[in-house]
Amino acid sequence: MKVDTRLLDRVSSGPEFDAKLCLNCGTCTALCPLGLEILPRKIFHHVLLGDKERLLAEENAIFSCLLCRMCEVNCPGGVHIAENVRALRVYLNEEIHGLAEV
Ligand code: SF4
Ligand code: SF4
Repeated sequence: MKVDTRLLDRVSSGPEFDAKLCLNCGTCTALCPLGLEILPRKIFHHVLLGDKERLLAEENAIFSCLLCRMCEVNCPGGVHIAENVRALRVYLNEEIHGLAEV
């Protein structure tokens, strides 16, 4: 795995990104109406590890999130999951599509 040491800083430069609070408990996955289509804890882990390649591979999942916050209101870590997804969309739009806005 090639580590991008700037990945977390880049993702954190937009909307709030507090994935460090994640306890990896899996509650979000159990409650998400999209089921296994999006795994917030796995996606956040890629960012924290600087694994840009795996993060980019999650583009469809990141853009499929409904931002419904079903996961977030039940998250024991208090992670702002939907806002984190928004931060990831901003990052991906800039990184992949060269766009400055979501
Ligand atoms: S519910 Fe919260 S603490 Fe648990 S895995 Fe999901 S984001 Fe992490
Ligand atoms: S905000 Fe996104 S990840 Fe969370 S439950 Fe809704 S669709 Fe799933």
